[in-house]
Formats: sequence, C-alpha cells, structure tokens
Amino acid sequence: MPELDTLIQGFRRFRQQHFIERPEIYQQLVAQGQSPKALVIACSDSRVDPALITDATPGDIFVVRNVANVVPPFVDDGKTHGTSAAIEFSVKHLQVPHIIVMGHSKCGGIRALMEGSHSNRTHGFIDPWMSAMKPARDIVKQESADADLDSQCQQCERAAVGVSLENLMGFPFVREAVEAGRLILNGWYFDFEQGELFERQVDGAYKPLSE
Ligand SMILES: [Zn+2]
Repeated sequence: MPELDTLIQGFRRFRQQHFIERPEIYQQLVAQGQSPKALVIACSDSRVDPALITDATPGDIFVVRNVANVVPPFVDDGKTHGTSAAIEFSVKHLQVPHIIVMGHSKCGGIRALMEGSHSNRTHGFIDPWMSAMKPARDIVKQESADADLDSQCQQCERAAVGVSLENLMGFPFVREAVEAGRLILNGWYFDFEQGELFERQVDGAYKPLSE
C-alpha cells in the first residue's frame, strides 16, 4: 500500500505531537467533551481541508464535508439527510456560535452543475445533489451569459455560498438561534490558485482575510 504509507507516517507524527508531547489536548477533550468554535461546511475536495486551512487544533471545528459544500433546503421527511443531521447536532446539541459555509475555486461539483445538459456525462448522484444550487446557476447564467465557462464556474462557486446561507435560515432551529443572537452565519471562499481566503459580505462581495 505505498499510497497509504505517507498517511500512516503522518498519523505517527500526529500521535507523537498530540498524545505523547501534549497529552493534555485530548485529555481535556475527553474529560470536558467537545465545544467547537464553529460548524464548517466544506467541499470533499482533497485540496480544501478546513482544518489545514485554518491551522485548527483538535476540538476547534465541527466539520461536515460533501460535494460542493452544499447546504440542502430544509426537508423534514424522516429520510437520511447527512448534512442536515450535522447542522442539527452542532446547533442544537453543541450550540456552536458560528456556521461557516466554505466554497472554493475549481470545484468539480459546481462545474458539473454549470455544464448541466451541455455535458455528455451523467452524474447519477451528483446531478440531483447539485440541483439544490440551481438558484446560483440561474443567477450566473442570467447575469454573465457571455462569460466563458471557467468564469461562470467561479461566479457560481461564490453565489452558491449565498444560496447555502439562505438555505441554512430555512432550518427552524438555525433561524431561531440566529435571531436570538446565539449563532452567526459566515460565508467563506478559499481560492487555492491565489492562496487566499475570502469572507462574504452582506452585499455578496468577497473580502480577503489574509490581512
Ligand atoms: Zn468542491
């Protein structure tokens, strides 16, 4: 398993740092339980690990990752909704003070959404999943109809963060916590071509966080 060798070596370094050199980190997390600063909803993309990007330590962030960091609309139908379950657990039980939806550059899920019927490829699970972000695609197709696909994808990656933030407010317990001032919703965008992290403003513009 040569592919996994570096990962296993990485675990040995992690173990040395976190269980031998600084055992108090996990001892405290075991004794007191977790109290993360934020729920981060990020893409599964291997280049956008929120713990790496934020240099987080264990216990700092509660993370759910899915294709294209999508928050689906609130649907209470008794079926299996993984992302919604993570939102519920972190807000109702862990009472996180922040939720961060983190989009990113070169997102394959957003590209599949933007290609849509223009692509010969069919995505059995991805297409229905990404349909939750159609409002973002529609905005970009309307406002930037003449732009090339790369540019449209980049705009959609950013617009989709806004749609996910709107969908979050459709969860009654999220809305209640936001309105009570216990919870803040944040939109971030990680551009790994520029090495920059951006924060979404109320007007939909993005401001760099590197300074
Ligand atoms: Zn992605």
